[in-house]
Amino acid sequence: MNNSELNGRIVARGREFFSTISGEKPSLFNKGAWMGKVMDWSMKNETFKIQMFRFVDVFPSLTTGKLLTDHIREYFGEEKDMPPVLSTGAKVAGMLGSFGGAVLNKVLTTNIQEMARQFIVGENTKEAIKNLERLRKDGFAFVVDVLGEATLSEAEADLYMNTYLELLDSLKKEYRDWKPLPGVGGDANLDWGHAPKVNVAVKPTALFCLANPQDFEGSVVAILNRVRRIAEKVVELNGFLCIDMESYRHKDIIIEVYRRLKLEYRNYPHLGLVFQAYLKDTDKDLASLLAWARQNQLQISIRLVKGAYWDYETVKAKQNDWEIPVWTIKAESDAAFERQSRMILENSDICHYACASHNIRSISAVMEMASELKVPNERYEFQVLYGMAEPVRKGILKVAGRIRLYCPYGHMVPGMGYLVRRLLENTANESFLRQSFAEDAQIEKLLEDPAIAAERERAARAAKQKPEPKGPGGLKPFNNEAMVDFTRADHRAEFPKQIAEVRKQLGRNYPLFINGKEVKTADTIPSVNPTVPSEVVGVVCQAGTKEVGDAIAAAKGAFPAWRDTDPKVRAEYLLKAAAIARQRVFELSAWQVLEIGKQWDQAYGDVTEAIDFLEYYAREMISMGQPRRIGHAPGELNHYFYEPKGVAAVISPWNFPLAISLGMVSAAIVAGNCVVFKPSGLTSVIGWHIVELFREAGLPEGVFNYTPGRGSVMGDFLVDSPDVSLIAFTGSMEVGLRIIERAAKVHPGQENVKKIVCEMGGKNAIIIDDDADLDEAVPHVLYSAFGFQGQKCSACSRVIVLDAVYDKFIERLVSMAQATKVGPSEDPANYMGAVADDKAMKSIKEYAEIGKREGQLLYESAVPNTGGYYVPMTIIGGIKPEHRLAQEEVFGPVLAVMRAKDFDQAIAWANSTKFALTGGVFSRSPEHLQQARREFRIGNLYLNRNNTGALVGRQPFGGSRMSGVGTKAGGPDYLLHFMDPRVVTENTMRRGFAPVEEDDDWVA
Ligand SMILES: Cc1cc2nc3c(=O)[nH]c(=O)nc-3n(C[C@H](O)[C@H](O)[C@H](O)COP(=O)(O)OP(=O)(O)OC[C@H]3O[C@@H](n4cnc5c(N)ncnc54)[C@H](O)[C@@H]3O)c2cc1C
Repeated sequence: MNNSELNGRIVARGREFFSTISGEKPSLFNKGAWMGKVMDWSMKNETFKIQMFRFVDVFPSLTTGKLLTDHIREYFGEEKDMPPVLSTGAKVAGMLGSFGGAVLNKVLTTNIQEMARQFIVGENTKEAIKNLERLRKDGFAFVVDVLGEATLSEAEADLYMNTYLELLDSLKKEYRDWKPLPGVGGDANLDWGHAPKVNVAVKPTALFCLANPQDFEGSVVAILNRVRRIAEKVVELNGFLCIDMESYRHKDIIIEVYRRLKLEYRNYPHLGLVFQAYLKDTDKDLASLLAWARQNQLQISIRLVKGAYWDYETVKAKQNDWEIPVWTIKAESDAAFERQSRMILENSDICHYACASHNIRSISAVMEMASELKVPNERYEFQVLYGMAEPVRKGILKVAGRIRLYCPYGHMVPGMGYLVRRLLENTANESFLRQSFAEDAQIEKLLEDPAIAAERERAARAAKQKPEPKGPGGLKPFNNEAMVDFTRADHRAEFPKQIAEVRKQLGRNYPLFINGKEVKTADTIPSVNPTVPSEVVGVVCQAGTKEVGDAIAAAKGAFPAWRDTDPKVRAEYLLKAAAIARQRVFELSAWQVLEIGKQWDQAYGDVTEAIDFLEYYAREMISMGQPRRIGHAPGELNHYFYEPKGVAAVISPWNFPLAISLGMVSAAIVAGNCVVFKPSGLTSVIGWHIVELFREAGLPEGVFNYTPGRGSVMGDFLVDSPDVSLIAFTGSMEVGLRIIERAAKVHPGQENVKKIVCEMGGKNAIIIDDDADLDEAVPHVLYSAFGFQGQKCSACSRVIVLDAVYDKFIERLVSMAQATKVGPSEDPANYMGAVADDKAMKSIKEYAEIGKREGQLLYESAVPNTGGYYVPMTIIGGIKPEHRLAQEEVFGPVLAVMRAKDFDQAIAWANSTKFALTGGVFSRSPEHLQQARREFRIGNLYLNRNNTGALVGRQPFGGSRMSGVGTKAGGPDYLLHFMDPRVVTENTMRRGFAPVEEDDDWVA
């Protein structure tokens, strides 16, 4: 049959479908009921929709009357201003005014619970089974799913698995008594003569709390261990098990779990997997799975859906600068659905098909293709979600007979994510159900061939495409370097490969680099791998005062020419260095894993941040490099412009050995200064990479000088030098303040007052409000506190938890911590690795002991006993503002937990240290978030996310008070600190005559 003939049949079938359900509406859109009214209002008013869905999300956490009343007011305003759909209940009850709040609470509570029940088949096993039996009586098969998505610990994963095991035990007692649903297949014990009566679906990532593509193998094994237990039971009942598909991040892990499970049950046909048609990968993934099944002579089953996480995938990809993994034209997803349905139906001898859609065009297409391909009835069925699209399911039941409802059950709290997804799905502009039943779109349009609609939309978008925007100097506007993408097998494979390559180069000698020449010294120190201190990463020459003096002299000598170099030309050196670093990104990351113990993602993040600094400051300097005219008086020209300060000493830390170093160095250089760079002794080999980058970029001699050395020998000499005009430092408060003090003294021959660019420590707090989403807060706090062993200036070292959620939060935080492992950073299974060196190890351990005395130890992890600089992941509760652990920077994996009575106290405590660097708040109260913006006075405040990982150009980084002098690296003001502004004023009037400039304030 050709395409147009097939399409004609699909449209005819679709029309018939519509005519059989004419006049019917899904209950969701029934405006007679509260939910229908809310849906209607949401579709008309985007602001209300966002507030409403956010309110639904926070609702289960509003466990007291006051919390509920406050949130209703914060989300929807005072009762008098509320949309009628919300306040009607209370108005009808005549209870506005002082009692109104309580009535409104009740009305909303009842209605939201009702709304949740619409999509959930029961809150417990008993209720669920009763309702499933009722559905069967109406002729519907079911696939049952236990609600629960964010599993944060082994205990929660076990609970999720055990709920399935109990559910299956309960079903075991019942299912034999169920009358099979009628059908023509050959087995009288099965539904429709061929399908198991018991059918369950699992969300695989809920079976392992650390599922993460970075640790691909570990995630597959851990999920499989629990899926296997469920599969054993399902097989006992001769049931069906389907593995649901979740976000793109876990797609390949899930496919691999399915493959391995299937090989374990090679002769059991009733194991299924979900594919999402909206993913661009799916054509390829599907073909590969079908080929694999055929090659291995396996019977498989696929449920095809379009996909439930479209917005999430699009936002995530945009944020990380990844290719968007989903189609962006709705009709492309619809067309993919039809294309992939055909591929499955063509393989119906080995693959059973579950078509999961509420879209009458998609369903009709599957019916017609199955008929064209003569696919036997027992090889395909239809599925829809419980609580949705009742007319559609009725229509399918009538025509095909084989329809299965996807029935989630369980408690409301884990159910809210599911509920919000359903509300979004039904109210989306693109939703077939919305267009069909809420907007009465033209049937012809709804039934149009999606391949044609997609083509038309692609052409329309191409016609609308705007020219690429241009940034400073005609460059592409600044954009952050893409994050590492561990969903890509090539990215995963690069790390072990590059680490092995780098390992071959360990132990080399590294000279100094002064005035464009390599300089060797007799004094050297080894830089070692903190995970295996016997492994020498490199042997690094140490500058003494002579060499530092030479470097300063070289920088001073190079300065005049470099200062007078066109800023655009200076910027080009940075851009070249960025391009070289980009080529070497995995190799440079591997050095970080070995020299300072960064995990793969942390190491890559450091390198991309370094590239960002180069790209960003290059553009900033091009913009700032042009003199600006200020004032518009005629006869006068005022030009405002910047000049570099001279010789810059850059003293950098080990924790962001490329990013922070290159950030400070490149800012100084592009602004026209010449640099003497002292890397940390712990990361001098990474420091050498800056030499390599700039040397390859062709930077003139003397502009950048590399002088690693012992602080005790050459630190003061560098700071005190009368020829140094600027010191850029990042490190501890003690050293920072000492530099500021020493630099204030003017030495003989000194021409400039030294400028200090200084980023120091932090004692960063995250506040957990009483309505916080703990599914989000717990993993983010864990990551903020213990990512890279808590050795980031931005790391969370205090978590201030409101009394109302304290116990629950701590229980989940500690359980999640227990699930993590400490070990070599090069193994992605380890959450935490070794700390920087033995000194850090000793100091952190001392602080942990102080904490144990001041508060109570809540958790202390095991550490490997292999000689690395390991300290345990440590969580200490009962800390009060006056404790040392609440005030002093530890710079390691020790988290202090404080219990605050309310939000005001939490903010006061958060501000109660001498530092003001980063902080965070997890809250769903609009008022509290507003209050935090105003009163939580720190350099970088993060609301409802982790508080590390500031991005150049998006989250300029740096604090005030004792955290720094407010210079904000990666922000629009940063370069100003490396330059002196000058103004030149020219009187352009000669003998009463002045040229009139275009922007003069002149007579009309
Ligand atoms: C039985 C069953 C099981 C399910 N299991 C899963 C599962 O395991 N994993 C999962 O992710 N989902 C699952 N879903 C949810 C499913 O993804 C959605 O219900 C489905 O996408 C809705 O599609 P539709 O054909 O019913 O409606 P339609 O209105 O035709 O399609 C809506 C869908 O189109 C896609 N879309 C929307 N906007 C765009 C755009 N601009 N560009 C491209 N595509 C767009 C999205 O996928 C959206 O959901 C399941 C659904 C059912 C019925």
